[in-house]
Amino acid sequence: MDSFDPGKVAVRSGHFIDGKYIDEGTRKLQVVRPSDGVVYASVPVANAEMTDRVVENTWTAWRSSGWGQIAPRERARVLRRFADLVAADVETLAPLEALGSTRPIREAAAWDVPFTAEGIRFYAEFADKIGGDVAATDHDHLGMTIAEPYGVVGAIAPWNFPLVMASWKLAPALAAGNAVVLKPSETTPFSVLRLAELAVEAGVPAGVFNVIQGDGHTTGDALVRHPHIAKVTFTGSTRTGAAIMAACAESGTKPVTLELGGKSPQVVFADAPRLDDVARRIAAAVAGNAGQVCVAGSRLLVERSIAEELAERIEWIFAELRAGATWSSGTTLSPIISETQAARIETIVQRTVASGATLRCGGHRADGESGGAFYFPTILCDVNEQSEAVREEVFGPVLTLQTFDTEAEALALAQHPDYGLAAGVHTADLGLALRFVRGIEAGTVWVNRYGRTSDFTIPTGGFKRSGIGKDLGRQAYEANLRFKSVLIDMRS
Ligand code: NAD
Repeated sequence: MDSFDPGKVAVRSGHFIDGKYIDEGTRKLQVVRPSDGVVYASVPVANAEMTDRVVENTWTAWRSSGWGQIAPRERARVLRRFADLVAADVETLAPLEALGSTRPIREAAAWDVPFTAEGIRFYAEFADKIGGDVAATDHDHLGMTIAEPYGVVGAIAPWNFPLVMASWKLAPALAAGNAVVLKPSETTPFSVLRLAELAVEAGVPAGVFNVIQGDGHTTGDALVRHPHIAKVTFTGSTRTGAAIMAACAESGTKPVTLELGGKSPQVVFADAPRLDDVARRIAAAVAGNAGQVCVAGSRLLVERSIAEELAERIEWIFAELRAGATWSSGTTLSPIISETQAARIETIVQRTVASGATLRCGGHRADGESGGAFYFPTILCDVNEQSEAVREEVFGPVLTLQTFDTEAEALALAQHPDYGLAAGVHTADLGLALRFVRGIEAGTVWVNRYGRTSDFTIPTGGFKRSGIGKDLGRQAYEANLRFKSVLIDMRS
């Protein structure tokens, strides 16, 4: 699938609660298509009272359905069916995802939807694999840890990969036997509704996975504070993550998983093999989804002797990208999510230039010919650690370029004072790569590649202000369980 007619995509709005669409809310928010800036639907906002009611109902459904108590193998079977339905629904889900987000249809169909399905399948397979342990104790006692679901998990997702980010939250939570109330971003609220519909079709009991709509300050805040929310899992900005952590502390010291922002370095040493490939990786890591990726490799650190050669190649690749609507077949540069965000990118670039940086390319809007906001991939040189574009997460296709002469200098530049989400190192020297892996403060380090593969086994999550805990991997599954310790005295 590489194009579609935006006028022909059926969009169902509302909340999805107890297996039904519900259009309740004291007010509505208009929802805009990033590709052309057109308001194409509206979404109701659940106020605090409604959010409380939905959480109560979810808790009741969780208990009455026995979702947390059925044989784990049976839960796995239902979730595998859910994964199959998602994969088979690509013709509906991919255009729905592409229509309201920044995901070009080709990528939504070839990656976002299958990746969402596979993520659900991956966690389905965990359902009957982790039940607890027998502890090593003295001979007279039997010690055990029993893995139990929390109950109701509150999940809050961002807009940049609406389906995939939501699936990383809901799949491990459901597989572990929890119920989930998911609040998608108010910017991209619709595709996950279809996901919830398919969950019920697969056999997830109605009411065990609910989607509630609204903005962060109203619905999101009420959700995380509800006493029946036993765990919170969030992906979004560092600032919101801190507010959610505070709300969790104030409302019951709830465990919280936070996947937050980043400002990730890509370090290229002069011996890096195949410079053309390196350039392609670096360009893709900052221009993919127009840089609206948490792990965007937005800080290029390159050994001085190859800096010019590499920058030139990246510039050529950038020049070939074609801005356009997510529904057009030739689009290789995504729209920016909103006019406000495009203006923010513009301002950061302008201020960085005003503070002494040089524009190697870009620094201006791109014409996507569809009416949305687009930004031309940009390289900023002559920057330092104080430059705004080096310090701040831009969330746009903006690459800063700094040079180094020594390994120690490269490592020092790679560390960010606040963020530690991901990093890339490109070199033919294994020892050097491993020293870098050891030295860098980042939750993920890629060597001679950049970005995730479809190995769900590898967890993702940040250090420092990039977050707490992990999505993906066994770790995300275990984070949705609480472990009860039991000690039995066998002498009585
Ligand atoms: P955001 O923080 O503005 O919003 C994320 C979600 O939080 C939305 O659903 C929003 O409605 C909700 N929210 C806002 N305020 C809230 C509050 N006070 N209480 C509860 N919920 C609230 O982030 P965004 O703009 O949607 O997403 C972009 C950010 O997400 C970037 O910083 C990016 O790096 C980060 N991100 C991180 C990862 C990761 O895995 N680390 C992945 C994707 C995106």
